[in-house]
Amino acid sequence: MRGPNAADKTLTFGSRTRAVDPGLDRARKPPVTLGTARMTAQRAEAPTTLVWFRADLRLRDNPALMAGLAGGGPVVALFVLEASEAGGRLPGAASQWWLHHSLTDLRQALRELNIPLLFRRGSAADVVPVVAAEAGAAAVVWNRLYDPAAQPRDAALKAALKEQGLAVQSYNASLLLEPWTITNGTGGPFKVFTPYSKAVRAGLKLQELTEPTRPQAMPKRVPGSDTLADWGLLPTKPDWSGGLANAWTPGEDGALAALSGFIEARLQGYAVARNLPGVPSTSRLSPYLRWGEVSPWRVWLAAAHAAACDPRLEDDVFVFHQELLWREFSHHLLHQAPKLATENWRQAFDRVAWRIDPAALKAWQRGRTGYPIVDAGMRELWTTGWMHNRVRMIVASVLTKHLLIDWREGEAWFWDTLVDACPANNPASWQWTAGSGADAAPYFRVFNPVTQGEKFDAQAAYIRRWVPELARLSDKAIHAPWAADSMELRKAGVTLGVSYPHPIVEHKFARERVLRAFEVLKAEAVG
Ligand code: FAD
Repeated sequence: MRGPNAADKTLTFGSRTRAVDPGLDRARKPPVTLGTARMTAQRAEAPTTLVWFRADLRLRDNPALMAGLAGGGPVVALFVLEASEAGGRLPGAASQWWLHHSLTDLRQALRELNIPLLFRRGSAADVVPVVAAEAGAAAVVWNRLYDPAAQPRDAALKAALKEQGLAVQSYNASLLLEPWTITNGTGGPFKVFTPYSKAVRAGLKLQELTEPTRPQAMPKRVPGSDTLADWGLLPTKPDWSGGLANAWTPGEDGALAALSGFIEARLQGYAVARNLPGVPSTSRLSPYLRWGEVSPWRVWLAAAHAAACDPRLEDDVFVFHQELLWREFSHHLLHQAPKLATENWRQAFDRVAWRIDPAALKAWQRGRTGYPIVDAGMRELWTTGWMHNRVRMIVASVLTKHLLIDWREGEAWFWDTLVDACPANNPASWQWTAGSGADAAPYFRVFNPVTQGEKFDAQAAYIRRWVPELARLSDKAIHAPWAADSMELRKAGVTLGVSYPHPIVEHKFARERVLRAFEVLKAEAVG
């Protein structure tokens, strides 16, 4: 649909995976609700259903949409741009860019099914009932959100709509397993990943793959809609989105292309290569999963199917599935701790005296710390709206430990700059790296950004790409330019403090400083 990279409508997972594909084959069948011409004519009389889209911007595997179609009558679709945080965190700037393009794509896809997608701005609690009335809808359906603010809002809205005599139903479209549906041996929620992941795997029941294929009867009443341009989601002054546009194709076709490209070319070797930022080795599915442009169960099944066809992929698929389960675990944690983005999971961290240092924070944000692997990551983020997972861990460690700046500052920056900024994954991962989270990295683990770079970007392909002013340094010198001899620096055109900064803080000093600051946590361990 959008652009030359758009995937073919048909699912392809490559010759290796095409042989046995029961789950994926199901996706090509028309939906159960569409039948003979007579039935279609009858159903044109059926009442309208309003499908409220949120973080489920796709046609395939969309239970609310399938339910709307199953009603047999016309379907009207709605997306509400919230004016406040009443329904959850408002998207940051990079996510808004993504949302604009994803909604453009979705509107086009729905149009082919005769489903108009309306855009309204305001409080969904007010807008949804109004649009339902304007459309003459008898039913409203949506897929659930897991942002803590959304749940009470949605429950109240559901009750209000029912009160008005509408049929209302909600579904799970975003997760393999909803957070409240799994408990540990004592009946409580999991707080540690490994037993959680084992329990999920043991009981995993995936939803069906579905795909609506036939146009509906056109609704007789189509309420008015804003235009996307009215919403101003795209940056203008300045327009900084060129790097995002080069890197991504938002929308369902882009998601399916990313999935099949990953299964074909990068799943093999993923278990090891996923840690190497200089090698294209991961799926880059995170923004598509965040916005629901592909279902997690389709992603899970595609990898499982690849392993079923080629047992040599089993280890890679196991590790890939673990990563998908980390995403589930983050949602499980958010459900337990609705203030995960603002409050330490481990309360002992409330005692840590974080430094307030706006200049250092800014240097970190802009990729000017003088640590090449950190600067490469922060510039990749700024340019493309995404950063490799290994580098996310390194930059987060440097912010919270080397600079001793509160993890919430980093979380907020990521929230604004990531196209995959996720209400569960982002705070859970920040707290994990800082040490304040559930099942977190030990607080006394302080990554050395030089050895991390040497280990995971040994040939410095990643650093050279994102920090080109260092590109002519040798593979050894590039990880710590300040330690290079002056002749090499001169030959490479590097003048420290001019063309590239000195390190913002010395590693040994920073390590000792943070360990001193974290002494306050020991009281928790003892007490
Ligand atoms: P792949 O390796 O291909 O993994 C497949 C999918 O599994 C991902 O798309 C993602 O949905 C999930 N996943 C992978 N790693 C993790 C992980 N460590 N935790 C949770 N889910 C994971 N991920 C987000 O989706 N949104 C965020 O806002 C986010 N913020 C992060 C902040 C920090 C400080 C850190 C350390 C990690 C963060 N992550 C976040 C997790 C992870 O970095 C990204 O999910 C991953 O880099 C996305 O790349 P990919 O799709 O190629 O991953």
